[in-house]
Amino acid sequence: MSTYFHLKRASKRFKLWTLLVGSLIVLCWVGMALAAAADGLLEVHFIDVGQGDSILVLTPDGKVMLVDAGDQRSGRVVANYLRAQGVRQIDVLVSTHPHSDHIGGMAEVLKTFPVAQVYDSGRVHTSKTFEEYLKIIDAKNIPFALARAGDTIRLGSQVSVHVLWPDGPRTILDYGDINESSIVLLLGYKNVAFLFTGDAGIQSEQKFLTKLPARQIQILKVGHHGSRSSTGAELLRATRPEVAVIMCGADNPYGHPHSQVLERLGAAQVRILRTDLAGSIVVTSDGQSYSIGGLAPVSTGGADGAAPAPIGRLININTASAEELQSLPGIGETLARRIIEYRIKVGLITDVHELLDVNGIGPATLEKIKPLITCF
Ligand SMILES: [Zn+2]
Repeated sequence: MSTYFHLKRASKRFKLWTLLVGSLIVLCWVGMALAAAADGLLEVHFIDVGQGDSILVLTPDGKVMLVDAGDQRSGRVVANYLRAQGVRQIDVLVSTHPHSDHIGGMAEVLKTFPVAQVYDSGRVHTSKTFEEYLKIIDAKNIPFALARAGDTIRLGSQVSVHVLWPDGPRTILDYGDINESSIVLLLGYKNVAFLFTGDAGIQSEQKFLTKLPARQIQILKVGHHGSRSSTGAELLRATRPEVAVIMCGADNPYGHPHSQVLERLGAAQVRILRTDLAGSIVVTSDGQSYSIGGLAPVSTGGADGAAPAPIGRLININTASAEELQSLPGIGETLARRIIEYRIKVGLITDVHELLDVNGIGPATLEKIKPLITCF
């Protein structure tokens, strides 16, 4: 099929869906949400999908949002991860932009879980991956809408989700760099705010900053895997994040994260967490404070800091008991003891790959346990 025909077909489909949905009102989702963060807690999981993005949000009232699904090879990783968190259905699925490291895993996710609503950038791609993603949405008749700056995405009654980018009419976007079409979301739970920037670059940052409500954010999902083309000083000055999460693959061919970004974050005194080093990273929040990987909470100056929140069913290798470690595949009594001895020796484990230094843990075991553990 020619590219032109494909685009035209995709374009018609977009228009039809846009017309059908009509607005951004999310259809009432029938059925109980089975995945929920612990009482009163929001959980945000930055899932380790190597070089790519996939962010799971579990709201205190049991709603589920997934922002991106990694590349094609990660589809199963993401589906398994969601299952392990007790997710049975997805209320809101966001495809920030149609690059394969963000939508490659969508087909698997869409096949595995009922999805109530898809939000898309409206940027068309000619890849098979994008076509497959549209086909499944079409076949399963899933409500589909384009997200635009100024929209509010409904996700239960306790958290707010504001769309900051892309701007413009609710039609197919066809300008410039695909990364600059990324859906950018501001997620708020009482005093705690997260900014998810997809792969948006500095050019977009400067524009969406004007739409950002005047508030500090606590957690920034760093744009474009830590590429120097994103995370400008202006963004950091305006949002004053406390923690920056960089989602990238170990030894990726792009050299992400770029040293310029690490320097900018360092100059702004932002704590940096990286999925290539730490594996999946889970942030929990009661709306007043937040906790990373179940470690001591950081208060935002509201109420007193709560007790360390449990991390969503991931095992923190820095704090887990021998018994908890033994629940991991391939980890028996001896290896659990060696892990504990190792962490006493090194202090804090900051990179899950350090486990390869534990006698008896090889690459195959690490691959098996990596989706189940975190060190933050
Ligand atoms: Zn990307």
